[in-house]
Amino acid sequence: MSATDAVPDIETVRAGGKPALARALAQVETAEGSAGLALFLDKAASAARAHVLGLTGPPGVGKSTLTNALIRQARAQGKTVGVIAVDPSSRVSGGALLGDRTRLATDPEDDGIFVRSMAARDRLGGLSDHAIAAVVVMRAVMDLVIVETVGIGQSEADIAHVADTVVLCIQPGSGDSLQFMKAGVMEMPDVFAVTKADMGEAARRARADVEGALTLARPTGFKPPVVLLSASSGDGLEDLAEAIEAHRAWLAGEDQLERRRAGQARAWIIDAIRQRWGSEGLARADLAAPAHWADGDHPFQVIRQVDDELRQRFDSRNAVQ
Ligand code: GDP
Repeated sequence: MSATDAVPDIETVRAGGKPALARALAQVETAEGSAGLALFLDKAASAARAHVLGLTGPPGVGKSTLTNALIRQARAQGKTVGVIAVDPSSRVSGGALLGDRTRLATDPEDDGIFVRSMAARDRLGGLSDHAIAAVVVMRAVMDLVIVETVGIGQSEADIAHVADTVVLCIQPGSGDSLQFMKAGVMEMPDVFAVTKADMGEAARRARADVEGALTLARPTGFKPPVVLLSASSGDGLEDLAEAIEAHRAWLAGEDQLERRRAGQARAWIIDAIRQRWGSEGLARADLAAPAHWADGDHPFQVIRQVDDELRQRFDSRNAVQ
């Protein structure tokens, strides 16, 4: 398929099941930079259907086990689920794509689950442009989207650029909560999940630590619930579902969801331009920006427009020299 081929509309992808979704996600890569793709992604972005759950935390904390449990929970409720697992050990720049080396044990026969592993932008697990576009497509097609990223410091702030609700997983007895406080990360998650509750006292202590830290770090806005759960036994999963629902309801009730998503779209624009043109390019892009840049509307077309404009300026400058 060439980059200029018409990209399908979102209704076709919705009606076409997994094969259509797989084709659309492939086009995110093969048709990159094309006007058709930018139009398609902008339409998908404004046709969001799913709540996007971001699951982050250090390696080994239990994210994959939890993702599996959440998939089962959603499927039992008849919801379709899309999962994007971002793997920091596989970097986009290295060209290595992970394929399906995912630790998620899903039923390949189940049409209601779509799992995609994606390379990270960098060593720290940042989200690539492709991963962001994949979230946008899945969000328009599935009922629930889970984005799983490894986060050990500031890098998990990236997840807030795509997730409606960010769940930070904390390992009992690891001192993670102290590390997160130091890194200034306590402000970011919407829900804290202390995993491996079956570890008993250590898990309860971790929850108390996080709750203590939160009273200092989060004086206003949504008060993030701290949930104790064991993904392997299933204990606490209902509490997590309630915590996520509480955040979802808060977003909807206060008109926060729209604002949050518009802010994310602005962040995609800024990030994409900075990636391609550096900070200097970004400063110039501000001048080149179309008027609707600030609304977060049509982010993918804005990126393309600004990118074109910067390239033209760069070319004409080179031509003069
Ligand atoms: P990830 O690296 O964050 O995705 O973590 P995994 O889901 O791969 O889990 C890391 C390890 O912790 C595995 O050995 C899991 O079996 C184990 N694990 C996950 N959830 C639980 C839990 O609820 N209780 C206990 N005791 N172990 C768990």
